[in-house]
Amino acid sequence: MAPMNDAEISLAAELKPIADIASTVNISDDALIPYGHHMAKVDTQKIQKSGKRGKLVLVTGTSPTPAGEGKSTVSVGLADALNLVGSKTMVALREPSLGPVFGMKGGATGGGYAQVVPMESINLHFTGDFHAISSAHNLLCALVDNHIYHGNELGIDPRTVRVKRVLDMNDRNLRNVVVGLGGRASGSPREDGFEIVVASETMAVFCLSRDIDDLKERLSRIVVADTYDREPVTAAQLGPNGAQGAMAILLRDAIRPNLVQTLAGTPALIHGGPFANIAHGANSVIATNTALDLADTVVTEAGFGADLGGEKFVNITGPAGGFAADAVTVVSTVRSLKYNGGLSVDEVNNPGDDRTGHIEAMEKGSANLARHLKNVKSFGAPVVVAVNQFPQDTEEELQWVKDFCAKHDVHAEVVSVWANGGEGAKALASHLTEVLKDSDDTVQPMFGEDTGIRERIEHIVTNVYGGDGVDFSSTAQRQLKQLEEAGLDKMPVCMAKTQYSFSDDPKALGAPDGFRVTVRELNLRAGAGFVVALTGAMMTMPGLPAKPASDKMDVNDEGEILGLF
Ligand code: ADP
Repeated sequence: MAPMNDAEISLAAELKPIADIASTVNISDDALIPYGHHMAKVDTQKIQKSGKRGKLVLVTGTSPTPAGEGKSTVSVGLADALNLVGSKTMVALREPSLGPVFGMKGGATGGGYAQVVPMESINLHFTGDFHAISSAHNLLCALVDNHIYHGNELGIDPRTVRVKRVLDMNDRNLRNVVVGLGGRASGSPREDGFEIVVASETMAVFCLSRDIDDLKERLSRIVVADTYDREPVTAAQLGPNGAQGAMAILLRDAIRPNLVQTLAGTPALIHGGPFANIAHGANSVIATNTALDLADTVVTEAGFGADLGGEKFVNITGPAGGFAADAVTVVSTVRSLKYNGGLSVDEVNNPGDDRTGHIEAMEKGSANLARHLKNVKSFGAPVVVAVNQFPQDTEEELQWVKDFCAKHDVHAEVVSVWANGGEGAKALASHLTEVLKDSDDTVQPMFGEDTGIRERIEHIVTNVYGGDGVDFSSTAQRQLKQLEEAGLDKMPVCMAKTQYSFSDDPKALGAPDGFRVTVRELNLRAGAGFVVALTGAMMTMPGLPAKPASDKMDVNDEGEILGLF
């Protein structure tokens, strides 16, 4: 019989009622708002905090292959393993976006026997948070155009509108559009474009807000456009009370974190979902803080490599949430080392019997892991490597990665959570519990609050990416000057960069040297509290690949979903 795929494993699992899962971390019935039998929202104002804060383990990774290296899978399996070795553990993860679900990368609920379930619900509409976030953001966009249409009292220059409508789909045809066609009654024509919701400012605000007040405060600060006199216009200026109240009522339910379970019954909070390449890449700070209030240990994941999600967790998410990681787990794979060493996606996934040149490719590709390890060590927390074992890996290859890490003074364990669930990460979990005993909020931001945007970008490019320097396009230079003039040039930067390379060129794999990074545009996200620096060809509305994952999907007349990974 063929091995079961992720969806089949999820369907075959016997899930516990969500109230049973909640009770393992003392979430009482009145704090639980069930969505069906196996999913619930948590009313964070009604939870009984444990009285002490848990320890936080950040899971990050090396530069991935296009399919991902298993950070979510390892996060889930590691949380299960930590429970197995006696530490009361929760996992906090992002909600999947429909873009990758139907596009190329797939879902975001882990894989094999290390999944959060019910995966088919979590990967599709879940509890509707992304729809709520899209609606709130699109309301803001509609209010801006409506203001211009009805007399434009604020003097908004329509050519400067910065907020773009969003949807949760990869749809390149919407990247650039003209809106307001159809004569006087249909608004004023202007060039516009759509973004995927996970790149939107409302998503970032949603994930960085500590509570409803903070949410409204941040929403009110969103800069929507400039006036003809080049003064910024904020959401707070739209209408007598601003747009933030109306946006917040659409987010009232969504802002509560979603509780589900892993296949082993570990409680999981899945909430918010900014991408890590074009956004800041971590689940909501409300979910992480809730988990830290309830559990002894919390495992959370930052998206893509440590150069992206990892760096942003340190400099954006942690400071916004008021927490810091106590230990960092870097997920690496034999296949990512081979890919970074020049082998093709097919060769690394189906290596066959002839592995001539594979160890050589790993040697070459390991420069990528080495640079990530150097960076993560500089974050300041204890570091361990989880070598995520794939079915095609040989003992020799896995040992090679362990030996490589030992040479770099980093403890590494092979984890087989995809095949074996939590049992496959017990050694890693035991090691981490020892490490966590002596570790306390050791990851601190790399920059002081008064560090300027230019300095931050130059530091990240030269110290984290390993580049020679930064070139700002004439547009970016003009935007930087505007930010300086407005006194907004000392805030965190959210780098929008390809996940495949330390550089802004997705083809420069491994650990490239001698490159410069081009910053094309700087987009102010005053509500989120950062500036997005768009590098290379990064797009805030992705496209679908030639063979989208949707090609294989179907649903039968019993409502069973087919072909979902
Ligand atoms: P990431 O979080 O790093 O993007 P995921 O955990 O989402 O990666 O995993 C990416 C894909 O790889 C998923 O389809 C998952 O099922 C699969 N996968 C992860 N780990 C393994 C493994 N050890 N063996 C086989 N497939 C795996």
